Amino acid sequence: MAGALDPELKRALAERVRYYNELGIYDFYRREPAAGNLRTMQDVGQEEEPEEMGETDLLDVSNPKAESRITDPAQALRLIREDIGDCTRCRLSKQGRKQIVFGVGNPNAELMFIGEAPGADEDQQGEPFVGRAGQLLNNMIKAMGLRREDVYIANIIKCRPPGNRTPERDECETCSPFLMRQIEAIKPKAIVALGAVAAKTLLAINAPMSEFRGRWFDFRGTKLAVTYHPAFLLRDPRQKKETWKDLQMVMKELGLAIPAKGVE
Ligand code: URA
Repeated sequence: MAGALDPELKRALAERVRYYNELGIYDFYRREPAAGNLRTMQDVGQEEEPEEMGETDLLDVSNPKAESRITDPAQALRLIREDIGDCTRCRLSKQGRKQIVFGVGNPNAELMFIGEAPGADEDQQGEPFVGRAGQLLNNMIKAMGLRREDVYIANIIKCRPPGNRTPERDECETCSPFLMRQIEAIKPKAIVALGAVAAKTLLAINAPMSEFRGRWFDFRGTKLAVTYHPAFLLRDPRQKKETWKDLQMVMKELGLAIPAKGVE
C-alpha cells in the first residue's frame, strides 16, 4: 500500500529522526532502492492508487525543536529549559545530582563561556561557575571589561558528576545537544571553551591544550577559542598570564579595548 507505514515503524523512525535532530542533523536524503528492489513494470501496473496522506500519516518530526520558530533568544532558552524538564536521560540523574544547572547570563550575549560540568556549589545553587573557579571566571570576565551579566555561561553537561569526576563520553553526547540549542538560540559572536573537556567535546578533536590555545576554531559558523579552565588556574596560577593572552585574542575579535591589567 503506497504511503502507509506500519505504526511501530513510524514511531521508531520518528524517534530516530528526533535523535539526529538533537545532534544537530536536520538534512536527510532518501537512498534510491537497490536494483534488486526495483519494481517491475508489472508491479507498477498493479499498484493501487496512492492514498492521500492524512495529517496523522505525516511523521511529526519536521519541527522537533520547540524553539525553532522563536526569534527571541530569552524565550527560546525558556523553551529549551522546559524541554529538558526534570531530566533522566542519563545516569547522572540517579547519582546524586540535586538539580539541573542550565546556564546563566545574557540571552543576547556576544560572548559565551563553556565549562565542563557543575561542581558541588553549582549543584547546590543551580547556576554554573559560582564556586571558587567561578570567582576566578568572574575575574577573567572583569579583566575583559565585561560584567558576568553581559556574557552567557554554560557547561557541556548540566548535572554534577559524582565526586566531580570527568564527564563520561555518553553523558556528554546525551546532554550536549541541549547546549547546541542554547548556542543556536543565543548566537554569540564568540565562544570560549574552558579547558580540554569542553574543547574536545565541542570540536570533536582529541588534542592537548597546547594545540587548542592561541587560535580560532570554527564551531558551526561561530568563532571558538580555547583557554585554561579556571579550576586549573587555581592550581597553577602562573598560567593566568597565558590565559590573558587568549582572552586578549577574544577581546580583539569582539572589538573590546584591551586594558593593561590582566587576570588576577
Ligand atoms: N567547573 C565547571 O566546569 N563548571 C562549573 O560550572 C563549575 C566548575
